[in-house]
Amino acid sequence: MKAGVLKAVNEFHYEDVELGALASGDVRIRVAAAGICGSDIHKMQGHWKYQLPMITGHEFAGVVEEIGSDVQKFKKGDRVAVAPLIPCYECYYCRSGQYQMCEEYTMTGTHRYGGFAEYCDAPQENIIPIGDDLSFESAAMIEPLAVASHGVIGIEPKVGDIVAIFGLGTIGLLTLEWLKLAGVKKIIGIDIDENKLIEAKKRGCTHMINPLKEDLVEKVNEYTDGMGVDISMECAGSKITEEQCLLITRKQGKIGYQGIAYSDVTLKQEAFENIFRRECTIKGFWNSYSSPFPGKEWFNSVDYLRNGMLKISDMISHRFELADLQRAFNIAVNREESYNKIMIYPNGIEFAQRN
Ligand SMILES: [Zn+2]
Ligand SMILES: [Zn+2]
Repeated sequence: MKAGVLKAVNEFHYEDVELGALASGDVRIRVAAAGICGSDIHKMQGHWKYQLPMITGHEFAGVVEEIGSDVQKFKKGDRVAVAPLIPCYECYYCRSGQYQMCEEYTMTGTHRYGGFAEYCDAPQENIIPIGDDLSFESAAMIEPLAVASHGVIGIEPKVGDIVAIFGLGTIGLLTLEWLKLAGVKKIIGIDIDENKLIEAKKRGCTHMINPLKEDLVEKVNEYTDGMGVDISMECAGSKITEEQCLLITRKQGKIGYQGIAYSDVTLKQEAFENIFRRECTIKGFWNSYSSPFPGKEWFNSVDYLRNGMLKISDMISHRFELADLQRAFNIAVNREESYNKIMIYPNGIEFAQRN
């Protein structure tokens, strides 16, 4: 099969890779659409290490091509998405149903071949049926949707809440979508990229703040009658925003940390004191899984996409054939043009639209 093989930092080779025998519990998927994730860029640049060469890609959907001898729930031709985390099912957390905390997981697209290829094998437990009507490019965004959903479910927003989202990349915008469904009153989008603020406004943020141009705390006070927000969701993963969350959340408010910090985070005294003086609740969110595996995050995403209450395919800014994977990654790595979700079509755009 053809694959986009990662050989070194941002070095993809479009080449033939031998497809091994299908494991008895695995499903072989003909990949229709696969998205590039921000974490792919960070991993590739060495923050986490891949075993190279590797076929990356963990956000994808396609058509069942073949099933292993032990697979009963699926058949050739089924339209499916894939949950990439493969838990060990044996550690303390797996036995407690907290699969997102697994001590010994493997990940499709990190430890085993992923979706930037014509075919990809995944365990049957990780296969999510998507029905006949959902587009593959929407289905390829179920993974980031599930990640955003894990945070929003965990922070427990209520009707009438005022929520701030730090960072309006893919996860920030998908967090916005779930918050709208949760019925919050105001959503304040915070980012230093004007294009992202414009996009967030289009998608339903009620207020926008660019902290490079405006005083963040002052603006939040203006939008919340001096109270501060009920909830801050940190989806940017910068040491600056990780502190700012603590400055704009009201007394007894909640702060959800979801963005990965790629450096030390040092808090000024006021920010740290707010945690106890204001009796804030701080929660961290990791990945997108719960019990029963892979979790409500995944099944809700499929259901809301299928019933039309979630519409996200307009978040795709670029579309590429697999042979152009390098060009696609260059857009994300070089950040020379504004982009949102970049989608790859390993069997051609036509295949994704036809099936
Ligand atoms: Zn991802
Ligand atoms: Zn485990």
